[in-house]
Amino acid sequence: MLKKLFFNWKMNPTSPNEASSLFAEFVSLAQSQPQISLVVLPPYVYLSELNQQLQTFGVTNLKLGAQDLARHSAGAYTGQISGQMLKNMGCQYVLIGHSETREAYQLSHEQINQKLLQSLESGLVPILCVGHQSDKTITEINYPELSEQVTTALQNLPPEFKTEFYLAYEPVWAIGTGKTATNSIIEEVSQFLKQELAKLGLAKQVGILYGGSVDDVSIQELVKLQQVDGFLIGGASLKPEKFKTIAQVVANQV
Ligand code: PEP
Repeated sequence: MLKKLFFNWKMNPTSPNEASSLFAEFVSLAQSQPQISLVVLPPYVYLSELNQQLQTFGVTNLKLGAQDLARHSAGAYTGQISGQMLKNMGCQYVLIGHSETREAYQLSHEQINQKLLQSLESGLVPILCVGHQSDKTITEINYPELSEQVTTALQNLPPEFKTEFYLAYEPVWAIGTGKTATNSIIEEVSQFLKQELAKLGLAKQVGILYGGSVDDVSIQELVKLQQVDGFLIGGASLKPEKFKTIAQVVANQV
């Protein structure tokens, strides 16, 4: 199966017009590469307009997601956005525990778990991000930390839980730095994550993603990964020439 592409716009762009123009590039990409699944994760404030844009063009291989959600379903939580609100705005996916969000809000494992449970309750597909929080460069893979991030986030799941979800391996030192993990490290970690998921009875429905400086150059090597089902892309999501090349390389994958 072709690898799925997730595009995290982070806190960009600055205006609705720019957001709409950037999204139009994704619409044209989706139209020209109908075999590739694309998910764009814009800031909350643009969701409504981009959803309308999406409906107008009717492309089925381009979906919307959000970059975070609240730990609660409704109530006195100023500044928070619930899963149900996102669902009603046309979101189908939500990022949970991105390292930038973990750091900005000092999120505990329990809080990540609450967000994950909220995503499921709202019918959103979670993309749970895990990575080495403690390492600044790769010296050795911190397996106990990865294991803790996965198992604590996936506690108390409803017994009938069978929906698709994604686990994104994003080493913190690779995000926005231009440095990518080597394919052998990514394969090794993906294998480990699959074993952890199997212990929880979740191996079948989970897609493994890699994120960390995926761009038009690094994709040439990363596309060869066997254990990985897709990529989470940050900086290159803002540059049409870069994300179009990434999609082209993925489309050419055999
Ligand atoms: C990300 O935001 O998840 C990410 C991987 O960013 P970048 O591609 O810029 O490293």
